[in-house]
Amino acid sequence: MGETGYLTARYPGRERNAKPMVVLGHMDVVQADPKDWTRDPFTPVVEGGYVFGRGSLDNKAGVSMVVATLMKLKREKWVPRHDVVLVLTGDEETRMATTRAAAEAFKNAALVLNADAGGGALADDGKPIAYGLQAAEKVYGDWHLTITDPGGHSSRPGPRNAIASLAAAIVRVAAYRFPPEQNEITRASLAGTAVGTPGPLGAAMKAFAANPNDTAAADVISADPRYVGQVRTTCVPTMFNGGHAPNALPQRAMANVNCRIFPGTPRATIEKKLVELVADPTITVALFDNGTIEAGASPLDPKVMAAVKAVTASRAPGVPVLPLQEAGATDSMHFRARGIPSFGVGGVFMKPGEIFAHGLNERVPVATFDPGIAWWEGLLKALG
Ligand SMILES: [Zn+2]
Repeated sequence: MGETGYLTARYPGRERNAKPMVVLGHMDVVQADPKDWTRDPFTPVVEGGYVFGRGSLDNKAGVSMVVATLMKLKREKWVPRHDVVLVLTGDEETRMATTRAAAEAFKNAALVLNADAGGGALADDGKPIAYGLQAAEKVYGDWHLTITDPGGHSSRPGPRNAIASLAAAIVRVAAYRFPPEQNEITRASLAGTAVGTPGPLGAAMKAFAANPNDTAAADVISADPRYVGQVRTTCVPTMFNGGHAPNALPQRAMANVNCRIFPGTPRATIEKKLVELVADPTITVALFDNGTIEAGASPLDPKVMAAVKAVTASRAPGVPVLPLQEAGATDSMHFRARGIPSFGVGGVFMKPGEIFAHGLNERVPVATFDPGIAWWEGLLKALG
């Protein structure tokens, strides 16, 4: 498809007609400019206990773990109950056209286990502190706000100015705070995070998890950029341009408003709110199609929770499993949009401060691979 493709491998089960389980990962990586990197981003360099390289974490670690695990199970002649299908997509980081095609090809899947999300967090001393199981994602949406005007000579301004009108509208959008929301995933994750979070923030997490109408608690959480995405839809202006000459009245101004929508709220509802906030019929508000799709949360499946708790207990005894709603987006959205329960259950454990996915000097700890393969073996045996 275009310059890329996706790869699938089917591992046959005893009941060939049963719905398959999909094990998902992606082969593509984000761009990297070698000039900016300390080491060549496209050569895997092992140094100081890490594999450095673009994609080492996102998502080559996950892909190599699931491939190694399936090969090991094949050698050991393991037979699952139903087919297990390995699906490796080719443009997760961009248009997700291969993801769309794969989701269509495996629309009868019973379950998706995604190696590209979820993972264990290590404390500074290297001890595991929590495992995050990704069961939902915010829905992505970009809206273009555009205003046009006949313009003219800047020495003869009229009552209207395209840049000023759009700027005023953008200020109204930026000032608006969407109402707080929660679902079973954010409730569990806030309640779990509250335990290890001291002070007013931890208290607010506990209070909001217990009472979805506690807007004061939601506002305390929202004040922290790490958690603002967990309690409400957010929309922020991210780009603005307008005008064509220093001495001309602007004929056109355009702004991009980027929204991260709480799953379950339709994009149409958000658009209606944006139009209302813009409150100017001369400004058009149009959703920009970048290939993302609306998808709800995956209801927490007790079988998946139990399997993840079991592999966590053997790898990191006593460490809690917290459901996670991610602010970013993965291939899972295309499966969730079709109603297929999808869970990010990646086997990488690392320090949150060392996650440089999409950034410079991306790395993954070498020590995470062997336990990661045992992790996937446990999961596949429990769920396959
Ligand atoms: Zn990824």
